[in-house]
Amino acid sequence: MRDDARLEDLGDGLFAYLQPDGSWGLSNAGLVSDGEESLLVDTLYDLPLTQRMLDQMVAATPAAKHIDTLVNTHANGDHCYGNELVGGARIIASTASAEEMNEVTPTIMAAMLKGADEMGEAGVFLRHAFGEFEFEGITLTPPTETFDGRLDLRVGDHSVELIEVGPAHTRGDVIIHVPKAHAIFTGDILFIDGTPIMWEGPVANWIDACEKIVALEPEIIVPGHGPLTDTRGVLKVRDYLIYVRDEARKRYDAGLSAREAALDIQLADYSAWLDSERIAVNVLTLYREFGDTAPPPGPLEIFELMAELAR
Ligand SMILES: [Zn+2]
Repeated sequence: MRDDARLEDLGDGLFAYLQPDGSWGLSNAGLVSDGEESLLVDTLYDLPLTQRMLDQMVAATPAAKHIDTLVNTHANGDHCYGNELVGGARIIASTASAEEMNEVTPTIMAAMLKGADEMGEAGVFLRHAFGEFEFEGITLTPPTETFDGRLDLRVGDHSVELIEVGPAHTRGDVIIHVPKAHAIFTGDILFIDGTPIMWEGPVANWIDACEKIVALEPEIIVPGHGPLTDTRGVLKVRDYLIYVRDEARKRYDAGLSAREAALDIQLADYSAWLDSERIAVNVLTLYREFGDTAPPPGPLEIFELMAELAR
């Protein structure tokens, strides 16, 4: 278990739970509270990690003893596999996220890791990315309520705006704006000091999402992975997406395959970001968007390519 995760008091009853260094599966979460009322933003990848976070939240504020509402920003397991530990809460996600949650379940992750030894280089990569999490014994706990577009909630005196900006990183990404605190929890619309991974696209939606965040003029920004940031951090993510989109397009037009493009694109300064091998997924998603008719590679091939790029 990692011991560098910490709860950060953001003021106004808001907290961020940060898991350095934000690499594969090491997601952030948040809490909005006022008086006795509380809203949790995301759970973590497994039950021990989520329980430890909840314990720290209870130690920080009595409002966390009973979580009234949980919002899952999107369907990736590192943002929802811990849901069963906030039993009794109203659990909210976008309709698209709720549907997507049924696809990559903890059971699938556990089975994939069990079979990793027979998967060659892809298996080594899977263990490196996901091997330290405990996927066995998790009961996937789906949202109790879904919405499309926008949903406004109240947590005591805080108004809380759920704004659907997906499909982008996944099919139903939601950001959470708390205007009185000038704060936004962005889910995986932001990876800070780490490489964004575009499972779904279209890239234009993700670029728009970055611009929406900046337009809300937040002073506190809690990304899905990595340290707290400001609007400059948001613009860096936007610029990465534009750069990769343009570089992939040049190679698509020149007739390179997605694999060739992923291996060919020079990441320059972005190569210093964690997990730069995610360019493989980003190029594959962009190629689909550009109209590539090659059959999409399976998960094994994708992880093989990322392993090759990570070398
Ligand atoms: Zn994540």
